[in-house]
Amino acid sequence: MPQKIAVLAGDGIGPEIVAEAIKVLSFINTDMNLGLVFENALIGGAAYDAFGTPLPQTTLNLCKNADAVLLGAVGGPKWEPLAHAVRPERGLLGIRSELNLFSNLRPAILYPQLVDASTLKPEVVSGLDIMIVRELTGGIYFGQPRGVHVAENGERVGINTKIYSESEIRRIAHSAFKIAQKRHKKLCSVDKANVLEVTELWRSVMTEVGKDYPDVQLSHMYVDNAAMQLVRAPKQFDVIVTSNMFGDILSDIAAMLTGSIGMLPSASLDANAKGMYEPIHGSAPDIAGQGIANPLATILSVAMMLRYTFNQPEAAERIERAVNTALDSKVRTADIYSEGMIKVSTSGMGDAVLNALKG
Ligand code: NAD
Repeated sequence: MPQKIAVLAGDGIGPEIVAEAIKVLSFINTDMNLGLVFENALIGGAAYDAFGTPLPQTTLNLCKNADAVLLGAVGGPKWEPLAHAVRPERGLLGIRSELNLFSNLRPAILYPQLVDASTLKPEVVSGLDIMIVRELTGGIYFGQPRGVHVAENGERVGINTKIYSESEIRRIAHSAFKIAQKRHKKLCSVDKANVLEVTELWRSVMTEVGKDYPDVQLSHMYVDNAAMQLVRAPKQFDVIVTSNMFGDILSDIAAMLTGSIGMLPSASLDANAKGMYEPIHGSAPDIAGQGIANPLATILSVAMMLRYTFNQPEAAERIERAVNTALDSKVRTADIYSEGMIKVSTSGMGDAVLNALKG
């Protein structure tokens, strides 16, 4: 049976970058006889304009029935005045929770051709290739009780709760260990076990699960030290696993080590490696419609999809090598352009990757 990909282009530059990713995926699908089929649906602001909701039932059904979801980006100033419940971003949160996508993978790779884009010294970041695995559906962003209330003394009090059950920790641990097995077999679990009891449990469950993966070297680090180490000596890490909020912050630090937001893909997986794949950047309304957005983060998201959901490492590597070849040929979209390079449009970059694949 063919395997289905739900394609949700979204808003802003979403349709422009997704078109290039589909161009690349269609080629590799035919060339390697992968048997993938695609189906498009609306999400975000585009879905709100058409149906009055950022996540129409038809879109959700398509995603539930698909093996993977490819997403561009959602949001933009046009929809900012809307009530929170119908904001474009709610569409994304809805898919994450409905599909139970609890494991968020954010690689930070520095391409040697773009070493100058980082604000850190080349010797600190050149060759950087780390993966942050962030727990995505639990922790302080969802814990109860939460809210702001007025205490007995009349003062307002704000509260959020960091809560993890053993099973939630166990499943993200398994996800992270399996990813480490596919990489350099080093996993660093980040917590704050010296202060927070919830992360004391996190550390102890990580250690327990680690016994099932004797080939992976597990270490533990406090989150404040991890933030410092990511900037001081990021190449010491292979895979980092951490809770929702710590991962939110650390993955942005890691992304910025590479200096180019248009280059970084991501994946959000369930327990069976079904996933949603998307660039880490947003809908970039400031450049939408101009044909200048960088499609490489979305193209690299497709490579992640082939690796993690469809278990096609060779196809994934072919795409990643083609991106490298395109960069070697000096083509650059505006966001990564520097003197002496050849400036290309969004579709020009997609074509360069496609030609490298064909070559
Ligand atoms: P953004 O990532 O869209 O843009 C930040 C800056 O990076 C902008 O200057 C933009 O032009 C540039 N940029 C981003 N992607 C690029 C690309 N592929 N090529 C070249 N330049 C690129 O973040 P923002 O401006 O804070 O948010 C804009 C909208 O996107 C908001 O509505 C926000 O809510 C939404 N957003 C969506 C997602 C998502 O869909 N997953 C993520 C973040 C933000």
